[in-house]
Amino acid sequence: MHVELSSKIVILHATYDPYRSYPENMAYSEDDGNIYLLPTFHPYVWVIKKNDFSKKQYIQAASTIRMLAHELGHQTGTLDDGIGQMNNTKKWENPIIIGIEGYVRIKYKPYKLY
Ligand SMILES: [Zn+2]
Repeated sequence: MHVELSSKIVILHATYDPYRSYPENMAYSEDDGNIYLLPTFHPYVWVIKKNDFSKKQYIQAASTIRMLAHELGHQTGTLDDGIGQMNNTKKWENPIIIGIEGYVRIKYKPYKLY
């Protein structure tokens, strides 16, 4: 994979912004170029374990690191489009997180919306 480094500055907001609400509180903002992550928010996502050829599906609370990997992908301009809205998850979130947590996300939509 070719990764192009950018000199663009990303400001990571790890605190709650009262002017935003879910889901904007865990997102890359096209308005200001910042990433907003609510550190106490961990939506349930569908995952499979690396190298588990049975492809058993698990529901897992998304870590802040997983969400940061996802939002960094958006900072590159990658969108939640494509088949199943999985383009950003496949291109950025999963390659970053698989070496850390060992699970890849298989669906864009969370298990349960709050
Ligand atoms: Zn996204």
